[in-house]
Amino acid sequence: MLTEVIPPLTVRSPAAHTDHPRYAKRLHKVVRRLVPECHVRFVLSESGSSKGAAMVTAVAGRLHSQRLQVCHTLAPFSLSPGQLQQVRDRMRVDLERGLRKGTHTGTPVKMLPSFVCTLPSGNEWGKYLALDLGGTNFRVMVVKIRSGLRRSVRIYNKIYAIPLEIMQGTGEELFDHIVQCIADFLDYMGMKNTRLPLGFTFSFPCRQTGIDKGALVSWTKGFKATDCEGHDVVDMLREAIKRKNEFDLDIVAVVNDTVGTMMTCAYEDPKCEIGLIAGTGSNVCYMEEMRNIKCMEGNEGRMCVNTEWGGFGDDGALEDICTKFDQEVDEGSLNMGKQRFEKMTSGMYLGEIVRQILIDLTSRGLLFRGRITERLKTPGIFETRFLSQIESDRLALLQVRAILQQLGLDSTCDDSIIVKEVCGVVSRRAAQLCGAGLAAIVDKIRENRGLDHLDITVGVDGTLYKLHPHFSTILKETVKALAPLCDVTFILSEDGSGKGAALITAVACSLCRGV
Ligand code: ADP
Ligand code: MG
Repeated sequence: MLTEVIPPLTVRSPAAHTDHPRYAKRLHKVVRRLVPECHVRFVLSESGSSKGAAMVTAVAGRLHSQRLQVCHTLAPFSLSPGQLQQVRDRMRVDLERGLRKGTHTGTPVKMLPSFVCTLPSGNEWGKYLALDLGGTNFRVMVVKIRSGLRRSVRIYNKIYAIPLEIMQGTGEELFDHIVQCIADFLDYMGMKNTRLPLGFTFSFPCRQTGIDKGALVSWTKGFKATDCEGHDVVDMLREAIKRKNEFDLDIVAVVNDTVGTMMTCAYEDPKCEIGLIAGTGSNVCYMEEMRNIKCMEGNEGRMCVNTEWGGFGDDGALEDICTKFDQEVDEGSLNMGKQRFEKMTSGMYLGEIVRQILIDLTSRGLLFRGRITERLKTPGIFETRFLSQIESDRLALLQVRAILQQLGLDSTCDDSIIVKEVCGVVSRRAAQLCGAGLAAIVDKIRENRGLDHLDITVGVDGTLYKLHPHFSTILKETVKALAPLCDVTFILSEDGSGKGAALITAVACSLCRGV
């Protein structure tokens, strides 16, 4: 039998209890009969209402003060419409600075020409190899493109992990590893002796001098292999292939993932002239007028420019909205002082911002009973996918607690409400900042073309955009509010890095063939 001592029950009506001669005795008897498995002790309340009221007031006061402190901590993440307009306008200034000849080497937004000047016609065809390096994994693919009535794109791919020690080892080790993965893939596909044209999606800032030439400007997103910055990535790949001496490849194009994404979506929708990535990193490309790209000769037509907008703010342009938590994330990163916009907006960093806020709130006794666990101190434990789970509207608070439990964070119900709020402000700000940046770009395109109104499509790739429950909605709302003269449609890219690299390679090959 279950025997439990119930905490003392306070009888709120002293008049009835004390005045009636048999009230108490009868009450005790009834309770014993109804719940014989419980021992209930009755104690008299002394002036219950006044003391109680005072206690309630004290608890409410404490909660109110905690709430105020939490709100105060999170307030800098709420950007006003005016602040977002400023971000848009500063982004616009930096886009122009990046395009201007001579200044583009030192500008935060690099505006790198991609040497992609035409969108796909839909008549591309052929079989291509594609590589995708630039985020969580490395992929090798065979892409088969058919045109005409049987128009289709088929991809066969294999995913390879890039161990941390290789990401941060020497350049030779990194490229040897890549070539080893390609060799494995070609064996797997039984294609070691077929020499296919290859498109290399290499999603880091590259200063290209041709469709198949590009020097790495600087590593981002957790990569830090030595002796690569300043070197041509296609040369480094070719040299590694030579070292291996097992197969040969015909490297036709080096492609940024934003450009691949734009091309993949443009293959379906010719109005797609912008590519956006919201995944491990954050970046955008768009079709710019040649006459505006001052570092390129020629004034005719357009070229896709990889903005590398992740570097926005590296000269202090975002100082007034940067919080101390952004500062901490930056200081704990591999590339301190660099990619400040990316660090406020992309999957690699959002969880880390949340973790910094949670540490701060806990250290002030506002969360997790003031206990900072070893787990909470571990960089990277709060992954951005947890933001998506915690912010899901379908999730009950109990489930939020379960997620926190998995992270070794013992939370109360109030804690889980606060954690959800923290995740919400961080992801909202990220989506709004991307929206403000995108508003600058669409409005620039509109002005470039001398239009009162622009209808344009953005092709998007990236798990943050695709899986976060609110990111895409907030991003779209922000663009709408900040670029009222543009109608912007968003379409999801299906494997922009693989399909896009193949399409760009196909376009490049057809230009060589003179088709
Ligand atoms: P990449 O940008 O590396 O090419 P993805 O677009 O798949 O690849 O993005 C991966 C990044 O997305 C991860 O680094 C992580 O930060 C983030 N991420 C993973 N899962 C989720 C999720 N469920 N919700 C939001 N972000 C996620
Ligand atoms: Mg990717």
